[in-house]
Amino acid sequence: MLLAPLSLLGWPRGEPALSILIYHRVLPEPDPLRPGEIDAALFESQVQFLSQHFELLTVADAAAGLRDRRLPRRAACITFDDGYADNWTVAHPILAAHGARSTIFVATGFLNGGRMFSDTVIEFVRRCAGPMLDLSAIGMGRHPIGTTAERLQAISALQVQLKYLPPQERDAQVERLLAAQPVSGLPADLMLSDAQLRQLSDAGHEIGGHTVNHTVLTTLSPEDARMQVQTGRDHLQSLTGRPVRSFAYPNGRPERDYDASHAAMLRDLGFEAAVSTSAGVARPGSDPFQLPRYTPWGRSMTMFAMRMMRNARMGAPAAVV
Ligand SMILES: [Zn+2]
Repeated sequence: MLLAPLSLLGWPRGEPALSILIYHRVLPEPDPLRPGEIDAALFESQVQFLSQHFELLTVADAAAGLRDRRLPRRAACITFDDGYADNWTVAHPILAAHGARSTIFVATGFLNGGRMFSDTVIEFVRRCAGPMLDLSAIGMGRHPIGTTAERLQAISALQVQLKYLPPQERDAQVERLLAAQPVSGLPADLMLSDAQLRQLSDAGHEIGGHTVNHTVLTTLSPEDARMQVQTGRDHLQSLTGRPVRSFAYPNGRPERDYDASHAAMLRDLGFEAAVSTSAGVARPGSDPFQLPRYTPWGRSMTMFAMRMMRNARMGAPAAVV
């Protein structure tokens, strides 16, 4: 079947629109236990499309362009959250081949062998023998894992149980999980190393702040939130020798995960831009401390183009007050 030709003829006229896309990992090959993550082949198609039809900028440069009213009608940023090693090993060569630069928001506490709890759950379930995972002894239930669909269900159930615990309690429960059902070979190379981070920065990618421990800012006191932001930023600056100009709020939902006081704090700390996870596009006059982003999904490039257009038509989200 032939795909319909990609077209952006319906792109909103008038003012420039800045589309900021959220990625996390780029897998070398599709992984049935990570169905939401993009693989190298699809990422390549998306980067090719974006580099043909959009001016691709880093977030800090795009924010400066918005401020100075010199953005083209179709501008876009490719952003990666959290600091995965495959941003360097898989995504960077694809971006470089298309002359594209990205912005990578790094939670510094996971550099050099760290693992986020959501990844620990996936890699744990991958390594458990079926057909039943019995975690009732630690209050985490019994989960059938005989099929891939069941494993996906088990992963989601365990992630939900852990997601809303306070960070320290969550870490302790992950430890109990790994003690209750020991598995071997959990990966220690999912996140960037210092050397990979420096190489990304030297290659022209922007490195942005994302706190130290990926803690949601609204769960912290103002002092602790500031410390998470500032410590992470200073660490990144010392690794790259370059200023950290932009920031991604962990989780990123306006009002729930950050509020106007955090935007003011970032401004006070010298940041130039911050991104949320509300959908929409930024336009001249948008608040540079809550630039909207959206997550592209699905395998069809025609749908990818249509979704970008639909997102652009949403306009800019309302500011938090
Ligand atoms: Zn994140």
